[in-house]
Amino acid sequence: MTVRTRFAPSPTGFLHIGGARTALFAWAYARRHGGSFILRIEDTDVARSTPEAVQAILDGMQWLGLAHDEGPFYQMQRMDRYRQVIGEMLAAGSAYHCYMSKEELDALRAEQEARKEKPRYDGRWRPEPGKILPAPPTDVLPVVRFCNPKEGVVAWDDQVKGRIEFANSELDDFIIARGDGTPTYNFCVVVDDRDMAITHVIRGDDHVNNTPRQINLLQALGAAVPQYAHLSMILGDDGQKLSKRHGAVSVMQYDDEGYLPEAVLNYLARLGWSHGDEEVFSMEQFVRWFDLDHITASAAQFNTEKLNWLNAHYLKLADPQRLAGEVARRLARQQVAIADGPDLVRVVALYRDRAGNLNELADAVHPFYAAPKPTAEMCSQHLTAAALDGLDALRGRLSACDWQAPELGKVVKETAAAVGLKMPQLAIPLRVALLGLPQSPGIDAVLEVLGRERVLARLAAVLPA
Ligand code: GLU
Repeated sequence: MTVRTRFAPSPTGFLHIGGARTALFAWAYARRHGGSFILRIEDTDVARSTPEAVQAILDGMQWLGLAHDEGPFYQMQRMDRYRQVIGEMLAAGSAYHCYMSKEELDALRAEQEARKEKPRYDGRWRPEPGKILPAPPTDVLPVVRFCNPKEGVVAWDDQVKGRIEFANSELDDFIIARGDGTPTYNFCVVVDDRDMAITHVIRGDDHVNNTPRQINLLQALGAAVPQYAHLSMILGDDGQKLSKRHGAVSVMQYDDEGYLPEAVLNYLARLGWSHGDEEVFSMEQFVRWFDLDHITASAAQFNTEKLNWLNAHYLKLADPQRLAGEVARRLARQQVAIADGPDLVRVVALYRDRAGNLNELADAVHPFYAAPKPTAEMCSQHLTAAALDGLDALRGRLSACDWQAPELGKVVKETAAAVGLKMPQLAIPLRVALLGLPQSPGIDAVLEVLGRERVLARLAAVLPA
């Protein structure tokens, strides 16, 4: 059997963290088994679906690097296919027209509620041997209902939650096509899962209640029933359900906030799945290890601190060239020109161990490209008369020395000794003069990367003419 999984988002909003985890697990399962991962856009809720949301989902998937093998398929482009299957089911007798008017349905519901029963369709238009149906009214556009089995149970071995069983008596003959002919949600999912030969449905557990209906429909169509794995929800840092107002942010917001996709992926992989005590692993390892058996049935709780830690970890490992590209994008947004400044790859390499995210990294390298503006307070604290004398002496030596970090470090040390300052008493004012800040990575490396011309110009700016 070739494994075929799908991610089937409804484009009614961005790709949020829960959806991204579902996509990651479905993707990894297909990759693990050498199968195919299918992207299907469930856009039949025309009132709530938008092209912007479709784009946001595609962007989020691309940013994460979760490439699909087939699709994206759009349900709105498959309407003819759904109509065809509805016709086949009507012809086969596994579905039927129901002519109940809205008033009749309301009356039925009121009666059932008065009897404290669950409101459900009573099967009055369902054809049955020996049953005489009323003549169809001419003023009602019929809906199409599925002949749900009346007896027995529908059950499946959920790959996450274990065996789940529903009595068919709990399920009524649900509508598969509305009066205007448009197919309903569960029906489209079933036709697609069948046509796309999906073998494993990995999705959020908000769909558990749809599953018995979908299984019955698949069976009525003579289709194979896939395995189901329903993922528990993700709770926020505070243990509350993620909601739009509360932590359910777009995957792309993680990009805006300076997270690396590999950190987010590693983090999501551990959100409800585990491989021993492994916390840090690559996507290659994840794909090798991923299985449905080690997904926890309980809800997973988001932990921003852990995500931040992973992000800092991956920043340290990332190729400086790539980081420079990310940082350049961020500096451009702040209108910081980098073309005339020092080599960004080298500057980034100096700071990537110190930053927790790409935005911090961009902020850290910013002073290399924009003339530093130490605050008045910083000037009075660090650029004292003695310090300025030291910087003046240093300027003289720096204008002639060999421009290599070891030599530059030596020059600073020797100058400090010559003017009677301790090393920090010269190195800190030097940092303030060069970068507008009292701290930086090793001063020798900073000098080397900045380059002689910039260093002398920045010193000239703080020294009396
Ligand atoms: N379109 C559904 C959603 O976004 C997913 C359906 C499914 O995976 O079966 O929640």
